[in-house]
Amino acid sequence: ALSRPDYRLPKSSEAFARAAKVIPGGVNSPARAFGAVGGEPPFMARAEGAYLHDIDGHKYIDYIGSWGPMIVGHAHPRVRAAVSDALVLGSSFGAPTVREAEIAEVVAAAVPSIAMARFVSSGTEATMSAIRVARGVTGRDKIVKMAGCYHGHADCLLIQAGSAATTLGTPNSPGVTAGAAADTLLCPFNDAEAVRRILEANPGRVAAVLLEPIAGNMGLVPPRPGYLETLRELTAKHETLLIFDEVMTGFRVAYGGAQERYGVTPDVTALGKIIGGGLPAAAYGASSEIMHRVSPTGPIYQAGTLSGNPLAMAAGLATLELLREPGLYDRLEALSARLAEGLEKAARDAGVPHVVQRVGSMLTLFFHDGPVHDYEDAKRSDTALFARFFWEMLARGVYLPCSQFEAAFVSAAHTEADVDHTVAAARESLAAVVG
Ligand code: PMP
Repeated sequence: ALSRPDYRLPKSSEAFARAAKVIPGGVNSPARAFGAVGGEPPFMARAEGAYLHDIDGHKYIDYIGSWGPMIVGHAHPRVRAAVSDALVLGSSFGAPTVREAEIAEVVAAAVPSIAMARFVSSGTEATMSAIRVARGVTGRDKIVKMAGCYHGHADCLLIQAGSAATTLGTPNSPGVTAGAAADTLLCPFNDAEAVRRILEANPGRVAAVLLEPIAGNMGLVPPRPGYLETLRELTAKHETLLIFDEVMTGFRVAYGGAQERYGVTPDVTALGKIIGGGLPAAAYGASSEIMHRVSPTGPIYQAGTLSGNPLAMAAGLATLELLREPGLYDRLEALSARLAEGLEKAARDAGVPHVVQRVGSMLTLFFHDGPVHDYEDAKRSDTALFARFFWEMLARGVYLPCSQFEAAFVSAAHTEADVDHTVAAARESLAAVVG
C-alpha cells in the first residue's frame, strides 16, 4: 500500500521550531514554510536524481526540483564533478574567468533574443536589471506587468492587480512605496487588448511590457494562441521593449525557452534557475546594441560581487551541456504527458472539479472546473481541496509544490515507474479527500 499512516515529522518539527527563533518563519524564502497548505514542512537532508530525503527518514519523488533548476535531477554526477573540479581552484575571484565567456556563448547560441548576456546571482536581479535596461534605453519610466506573474521581489515588480477598474498598481507588500508602484501598470494575463489600451493611453511613456511567456507562478497557465505574437506587434509599434521573464521557462520548455517553442522573440530576456544548475546564477540578455548600453561599455549601471561565480558557472555549463543530449526534451515531454494524463484521469474518476494544464515538463493540476487563462480564473480554484490533496500526496512520498499557484516540474531523472507511482498515489489521495 502507498498510504503511510505513520507519516510524522518529529525531527523536522524540532528543526523548524529552532529555525523559527532565528529566521523569520524558519525559512529563507516564504513558500518553503508551507503557509498555503498549513502545517510544517519536512526538512531536507539530501537529494539524488528524482528523489528527496528528509531528516525524518522519508523519501519523496520530487516535483519541485528546487522550484525549477534541477532539470537533470539532483546531484547529477557530471554536475557534481564540474563543481568539485572548480572548487579546488578557488570559489570566487572577483576577477574575470574564461568560463564566463564560455557560458555566455552557450546562452547566446541557445536563446534567440540573446546576442550578449550579463550574469547575476538571482532571478530577482535578472528581471530588475532587465527593467533598468529597458528604462535606460527608452528613456521612459512606466512598465506593464501581468497580474499573477511573479518576477522576484524588486519593488516595482511586487505589485498585484488592484480593483478591476484601475490599471494603476497598488503595492502588495509594506515597504514598496507608492512611487515605485505608480510606474507599474497592470493587465490580466492572456489579454492582449488590455495591453493595447494601456499602450494607447500612455503614448511614449511605457519602457517595457514584461511577462512570463508561460505563466508558472499562478499555477501553469499557457499563453493563448496569438497572445505573444500580438504583444510582439504592439510593443514594436509603440517602441516599447518586450521582456520575457524566462527564469522558469528558459531551458525548461525547450532548450531555447518559450521564445523558441512559440517562435516569438522578445527584446530582452531574463534567465535563472536552470542556468545555474542548482547554484545561484541568473542572467539577462538582449541584442549587442542593447547590451552595449550596460556598464562599463554604457551608462546603465549594474554589478555584483559574486556575479559569474566560478562554481555557479561550472554547474550551469555542465547542466546546459547535459540538456543538449539528443532526445532529452522529447523524453521530458513524453514523461510529463504521461503524468498529466494520469492525473487528469484520476481527478475525473474521483469526480472533483479539475483541469490539468501543461507545457513541456511544467504542469499544474488545478481544482478548477475548466481552463485557467489568468489570475482571476486561478484564484477560483478549490485551495482547501488542494491543501488536503497535497498532504495526502506528501504522506505517500510525493513532493508537490506546496501551493495551488505553483507549477510542478518533471526532471530527466524521473522514470515512468516514478510517474506511475505518482498517479497511483494521486488516485488514493483523491479518494481520501473526497471520501
Ligand atoms: N521570475 C520568475 C518567472 C520566477 O519564477 C522567479 C522565482 N520563482 C523569479 C523571477 C525570481 O527568481 P529568484 O527567486 O531567483 O530571485
